Parts: sequence; structure tokens; C-alpha cells
Amino acid sequence: MSVLSKLISFAATPFPMSMLRAGKDIPVLLPFYHLVSDRKHPFHFNYEYPSVKRFKEDLDFLLKNFEPISLEELLKGRDLKNKFHLSFDDGLRECHEVVAPILKEKGVPASFFVNPAFVDNSDIFHRYKAAVLNAIFQKQGVQSELQRTYADLLSLDQMAEDIGLNWDEYLEKESPYMSLDQLKELQEDGFSIGAHSWDHPEFWLLDEERQLDEVRESMEWVVANLNPSVRAFAFPFTDFGVSDEVFNSIEQERLCDITFGTAGVKNEPLANHFQRVPMERGGVKSARQLLKTEYFSYQLKRIMNRHIAKRA
Ligand SMILES: [Zn+2]
Repeated sequence: MSVLSKLISFAATPFPMSMLRAGKDIPVLLPFYHLVSDRKHPFHFNYEYPSVKRFKEDLDFLLKNFEPISLEELLKGRDLKNKFHLSFDDGLRECHEVVAPILKEKGVPASFFVNPAFVDNSDIFHRYKAAVLNAIFQKQGVQSELQRTYADLLSLDQMAEDIGLNWDEYLEKESPYMSLDQLKELQEDGFSIGAHSWDHPEFWLLDEERQLDEVRESMEWVVANLNPSVRAFAFPFTDFGVSDEVFNSIEQERLCDITFGTAGVKNEPLANHFQRVPMERGGVKSARQLLKTEYFSYQLKRIMNRHIAKRA
């Protein structure tokens, strides 16, 4: 955490949530996670995911201060004040094993955004490849902090080959992702499944045509395999740098009904596009601390008229 965010977090603490989330046009709360686990997950380099205990506490805090809604209710958009919709990115198997049973127990709806390239453990996200390699190098006593992009996929694969790591074997042994059957089970239980691009590239490294291909192909896969009542897409990493032209094409081609970014609590000028709040951040211990800070800085930004999401 930076000094500034520590200060904001400190300043936000005494205010009750009811006060921080007050105000006209305050955006609907859309917290998102990747996984919940009590073990040291192989992908732990990527984000500080919560333990089961913390996740349950986060949910209790959310349920005390906000009312959960489904993706359908979010799209209808009527009276979203003090409502929240939860989501999970990347389609990791903990979503099915750990998260869904807790959500069912507490009666909380949620959406799961998946990359078709990785469903059924057919392949693995390049940042997760880097995480797996980091873990192996660190075990060997070599300091390694690989944070490779999509453009470095070949060199990551080369590195793996050099140390005798076969991704197919890794995927078979670890099964980090959910299968299509598990996604169907989640859907039968009332959860929503959306797309998160075909294979999770950094969109800012792609031209507009390829960005659209990523949206189009992943949405087509979700519709063909799961046919959800709401066709939802969550941009991988961020929607920052995605142009108005791309948003226009998504709308004109009717690729999805609703789209999501990750800019935190922000008002969004685009219709049916919403900003979500990343809940896994270094040094943050609870949803209470994180959301108080998030809303406090949102209220500060409102004063300075900087509370509206920008993409360039
Ligand atoms: Zn993701």
C-alpha cells in the first residue's frame, strides 16, 4: 500500500459505511475476486486472495451494508441504490469447490467470468505460467519475479521447456480451472456465467480488430455452450485503453448485454457498462477496510469531479 492509500484508509476508518455510501447517483457496488482458498495457491503471486474465514467475513459485511442482486436485476437497472452484485474472474476450480457452496449457504447470487481457452484445463493463462515458473525458481533459491505479458508467451513456454516443465502434464495434475460440466452446474444453481475474453490477453497490446475478436469469440463460446439469459463480458485486467469505437462495435454487433471494467467505485458514462471493485489487494485485511477506503476516496473524487470512469 502506498503512503497515500494508507492515509486515505486511516482517514476513512471512523466513518460508518452508511455515511460513506450516501449521495445521489452513487454507483452500484460490484466487488470481484478470483479465488478463495486456505492453501498456498500456485497462483498466489498474482493477488492476495482471501481465506475462507475472511471471505465469509467479507460477505457478512457486504450483507449487513448492501443488498445482493442477480445479474438480471443489475441489467434491469431499477433502484440499484445500496445493492451489490458479486463476481469472480478467470474460472478457477476454487469457484466451484469453495466459493459456490459458501454463496449458496448465504443466499448470494454471483457471476463467474471465464476464458474459453482455459475451460476444461485446455491451456493456462500466461500470468499463471509466470507464477508457476516463479514458484519453481524460488524453490531452487533463485529470486524470480516474472510478470510476463501475452507478448512473452513464447519465451515463457521456452523457459518451461528448458526446465522440463510440460504444461499439459501440469494442467492434468493440478487442474487449476473449472470444466464445462462444472460451469453448467453453477448455472443450474442459479449463478451466471459470462466471458472474460478468449485467452486473457492484455487488451492494450492488441489492435481494435483483435480486441473485438476476443470479445466476439469468447461471447460466442459462452452462448453456444451455456446460453445464459444475460450475455455478460468482463474485460481482462482493465477496460482502460479500450476505445469508444470498440464499445460502439460491441453494441452494434449486439455481442453482449452488459460489460464490466475494474476501475473501482466509479460512475460510468457508458450505458450497460459498469466498473467493478478489485477485492484482492496487498495489505488489505477485510472488505470493511477496503470498501470504506474505496468509498471515502470516491467521495473525495466527487468533490474534485473525478469520480467518472475514463478509458484514455
Ligand atoms: Zn482475469
